Amino acid sequence: MDTVAAVDGRWVEVGDGVLARRYAELDLTVGLVLGAERALVVDTRGDARQGAELARAVRAVTPLPLTVAITHAHFDHCFGTAAFLPCPVYAHPDCRSAIVATAGAQRAHWAAHYRAHGDDGTADAITGTEPPRPDRAGPARLDLGGRTAELIHPGRGHTDHDLVVHVDDVVFAGDLVEQGAPPSVGPDSVPAEWPATLDALLALAPRLVVPGHGDPVDAAFVAEQRDRLARP
Ligand SMILES: [Zn+2]
Repeated sequence: MDTVAAVDGRWVEVGDGVLARRYAELDLTVGLVLGAERALVVDTRGDARQGAELARAVRAVTPLPLTVAITHAHFDHCFGTAAFLPCPVYAHPDCRSAIVATAGAQRAHWAAHYRAHGDDGTADAITGTEPPRPDRAGPARLDLGGRTAELIHPGRGHTDHDLVVHVDDVVFAGDLVEQGAPPSVGPDSVPAEWPATLDALLALAPRLVVPGHGDPVDAAFVAEQRDRLARP
């Protein structure tokens, strides 16, 4: 089981030189944007071992220098960053603080979770992971060579520091959008502001939105999720 968790990814092309990578593990989706001079990795998976798998998969696609963008501080999106270093790692400043403040508790919680589900390999990997701190602050505009990736904080929702990545007509939304499961409202979510945040995301007029979990969706799907979140 632990081997499967580390290697089950597959690339899905969502635009010209814009890739999503899907995992059965947590139904996670991460991203890769290829410029002429640099490539941008969106989220890094949930532990050092999973991050190493993603880094190898990225290197099978491109030899370009890498930049990393982290959508939010939950372990499954940012604990794998070490495999990409040294490189610039962008996140909302409050994401950096949240990683610093919560890494220990997330590590303990998820190691216990995987242990309880018989996946000692992943439990051990998380226990051994100290997530690197992002060293660059978003929002930002990143020139990847011939194309620009915009790191945007459309507002608070899944967390108080959600950062989305806008490239051409694609938006990597992190967990502001989920497909295959309802959006995850946790103790660090800001549900009252989430609908307005999705309105700001939809104002980017995306053709495709890549959720943090599940398959890419269209704007109508996001609008529906927005309406559901707005319902009292
Ligand atoms: Zn999350």
